Amino acid sequence: MDRTLEDRVAAAVRSWGRWVPRWQPGESRARTRPCRLCLGSPLLGHAGLDTDVPHAVGHALSTRLKRITDAEVADYTEKNLPTLAAELGRAEERTRRSYRPQEGLDPEFEGLPLDPEPEPGAPFLFTLAGLARDSSRDLPPPPPLSEEAKAALRIEIRLADECGQHAVALIGRALEQYRPEIRQTLARHVEPQIQALMADLQRELNVPPLSG
Ligand SMILES: [Zn+2]
Repeated sequence: MDRTLEDRVAAAVRSWGRWVPRWQPGESRARTRPCRLCLGSPLLGHAGLDTDVPHAVGHALSTRLKRITDAEVADYTEKNLPTLAAELGRAEERTRRSYRPQEGLDPEFEGLPLDPEPEPGAPFLFTLAGLARDSSRDLPPPPPLSEEAKAALRIEIRLADECGQHAVALIGRALEQYRPEIRQTLARHVEPQIQALMADLQRELNVPPLSG
């Protein structure tokens, strides 16, 4: 990974811009819980996607930017934080042996609920989230850490967190220059669809049904 952070932000914005024309208002599933990735996200603010933008549209950029932050933190951890890197390696080894339906999804689906909302009185026989939970329960617990390792881990987790915050700040700065481009994409592909939807709604509400 020798591209600069700015290059990766540019690529994320381009990839999002290629996806947006495929977005349709009716397709995104209604959420019952706020999205942890998007709610109050400073990066969506920098991109100008924090107000009056359908969640799915902002989410598709959030996830692409999160992949950049995650890669920065993973790279830093790998190079500088040996205890945390070893611990993550062990956790990775454990999850490799369990079922992970949330992996390998396209960015616009990442972090969204895996299963549809259950309907009252009609429970699902099984859900993807349930299968993932059951398969990880079958694994033996990891060996306990020494006090020394725990202390080192606490420090390294803090450093990794700082690295993440630093990456978010840099990504936010890099995003500023794409605001006009992002605004144009919204104006071309998102706003007309919302206006059409509103017009349909208006028609339905205003026109009295034909009496037969
Ligand atoms: Zn979201």
